[in-house]
Amino acid sequence: MYNFDFHRPSTLRQANGLMGKLEDAKLLAGGQTLLPTMKQRLASPGQVVDLGGIPELAGIEQKGRNLVIGAMTTHAEVAGSALVKAALPGLAALAGSIGDPHVRNRGTIGGSIANNDPAADYPGGLLALGATIVTNKRRLAASDFFTGLFSTALDEGEIITKVIVPTGAKFAYAKFRNPASRYAMVGVAVAKKGGKVAVAVTGAGSDGVFRWEAAEAALQKRFSAKALDGVATPSAKNLNGDIHASADYRSHLIGVMARRAVTTASGK
Ligand SMILES: Cc1cc2nc3c(=O)[nH]c(=O)nc-3n(C[C@H](O)[C@H](O)[C@H](O)COP(=O)(O)OP(=O)(O)OC[C@H]3O[C@@H](n4cnc5c(N)ncnc54)[C@H](O)[C@@H]3O)c2cc1C
Repeated sequence: MYNFDFHRPSTLRQANGLMGKLEDAKLLAGGQTLLPTMKQRLASPGQVVDLGGIPELAGIEQKGRNLVIGAMTTHAEVAGSALVKAALPGLAALAGSIGDPHVRNRGTIGGSIANNDPAADYPGGLLALGATIVTNKRRLAASDFFTGLFSTALDEGEIITKVIVPTGAKFAYAKFRNPASRYAMVGVAVAKKGGKVAVAVTGAGSDGVFRWEAAEAALQKRFSAKALDGVATPSAKNLNGDIHASADYRSHLIGVMARRAVTTASGK
């Protein structure tokens, strides 16, 4: 590893101050993506600001009809949380499907969405659930936050502090995972609340996570896997093709995963 300055603030205020004054600084959360990229010299920040020493950034609460998840909450904590399992069991299952136990015990929700890997699981779940991302500066709807491959609406140095997830939806996530990394080759999240249905697809879009509106329209009429019969899956021309799967195959998988998610969410 090369030389860099390491900072470990103990309050959000201190972290804010550091990110405001340091040049070439990167935030460190679970390090599951940042450290490998630094080791490979794909990123070489001169300053690293570790968020691990700030208690106010971790933890899960239920506030009214919302789950409030601190940015430094690990995937394992979300997966094992009694609150999440009670309010949104599908979200606990999604977190439990991320990587392996090592990754789940280090990786955080804040780091995952800040990185916005096109094959990450949380972006699909949070988009379908209509979550709000809270930073040290503002609040962003998930639909405005995820802006493309590995890109978000975050400004340089902006710190995600928590994620607010509305509860009360019938929600499930189905993922066809890469056998090695377990990232989503295709992941589909389905949320039904009142008469509204949201379907978000991750792992496949050539521009990152996206909503599948044709499926939403069909599922709003009838919330069952069969309602997707005859609905064309997203066109391969807007999907990724790579050594793991062709765009055509991903288009097919979207239909399969969507049916599985609807079946789980509807409990039928
Ligand atoms: C082997 C392996 C398998 C994996 N499999 C999966 C998988 O199946 N599904 C999946 O979704 N993910 C998977 N991941 C990624 C994993 O979920 C990581 O947790 C995630 O990508 C990064 O989270 P982190 O907390 O480790 O962040 P870090 O690596 O510390 O940071 C990632 C980026 O986010 C920025 N950042 C971190 N926290 C904040 C914040 N609070 N505010 C603003 N910016 C911030 C950092 O500066 C950095 O640019 C895998 C990773 C590995 C190594």
